Amino acid sequence: MRALTRHPIALVLAAAVLASAWWSVPPLVDAVTGAAPGGDVELVRPLWYVILAPLSDTLDALTFLSLDRAKALVTGWMIALALAGAVRAGSWRRRLLRGLTWPLAVVALAAAAVLLPRPVPKLVTRDPSMAILDYHVHSVASHDGRPGWTTDRIARWHARQGFTASYLTDHNRVFAGTNDTEIPLLPGVEWSLHQLHLVAIGPVRVIDREPYSRDLHGLLGVFEALHQQGAMSIASIPEYWRYHRENLERFAIAGVDGFEIVNCAPKAIGFAAAARVDVVRLARQYDRLLVGASDSHGWGMVTCVWNLTSPGEHGVQANRVLARSTALAQGELQSWHAAVSQPWEMWRALSWPERISWLSWITLVSLYRAPVRRRGQRGGLGILARSVGRTRTPPP
Ligand SMILES: [Zn+2]
Ligand SMILES: [Zn+2]
Repeated sequence: MRALTRHPIALVLAAAVLASAWWSVPPLVDAVTGAAPGGDVELVRPLWYVILAPLSDTLDALTFLSLDRAKALVTGWMIALALAGAVRAGSWRRRLLRGLTWPLAVVALAAAAVLLPRPVPKLVTRDPSMAILDYHVHSVASHDGRPGWTTDRIARWHARQGFTASYLTDHNRVFAGTNDTEIPLLPGVEWSLHQLHLVAIGPVRVIDREPYSRDLHGLLGVFEALHQQGAMSIASIPEYWRYHRENLERFAIAGVDGFEIVNCAPKAIGFAAAARVDVVRLARQYDRLLVGASDSHGWGMVTCVWNLTSPGEHGVQANRVLARSTALAQGELQSWHAAVSQPWEMWRALSWPERISWLSWITLVSLYRAPVRRRGQRGGLGILARSVGRTRTPPP
């Protein structure tokens, strides 16, 4: 009971890490079936990722947030930390200082999620005939690409996460493909057309976008024009759903080759599960491709989705979309409780090695901050060493 009052935060954290195991979800799921992928693929977490699990998992969870949930989470935690700092004992000056500075921890974590190089999980398949692809990524050549986000860095970013190749699809700028990078970067482009962002892949050439940018009727002609180049077209989230959900069957009849059903960009990651069901049904009916896209612009270290592709097959069967479950949950969860539901989703998806890492860190930090500090002593590693194996508090 004394431990409860002495280390309330540590105990709540440890309880959450353990309780979430009861309601655990697979860290990686098939976006179409919602089930964990079979034994032919594995999400491998590097040793340092697991050792630093509280940091790795938190930064991943901050990456897999829809725009609305990101706003709600950051606001919620900043207010909570400001209040926690202000109500803690101390002079009004110290309380004011804490109330103003503690919320900055959230800003620092958010910045770290976007910028800090760190170990990331990697998708590994046991089937050597399978390719692991990304269909949609941007470089510095896009107006909104990260400065310095070159083809070399893009290929390394993908290779680290298990991709064997990626299409590079800058906004309205044709990429011809290259093999001079760690993994091949394949030719592609993302055309901005009439209320639609259309990823074109394969032997793409420059088109005059004007006829396809006027209205729906004009737009529907683009799929055939791309076929004449030998290219394939994939409609991108969120635009096709936001502006054309009533027209998607006309897209399929006019020759669109596929639809994204997962996209890691903050404006698209909240794609609703019900919408995905509709698109999957349509794709099955017309035998169209379903894909996931990192849509990375160079910000953030980790993808939320991989495509497992077997060459030779085609249509809806050709590609399996495997997504991080925390990312898929964005389309199901309301925004207002993101400050609580996001960490909960993160804990539910932990592997046991990650859980043990979390519990070890919670124990270590509690011991460090611990009780046996004699009056006048500061915290430190010496205290930690003395704390281990000592459970009784000396009399005051
Ligand atoms: Zn963009
Ligand atoms: Zn894009």
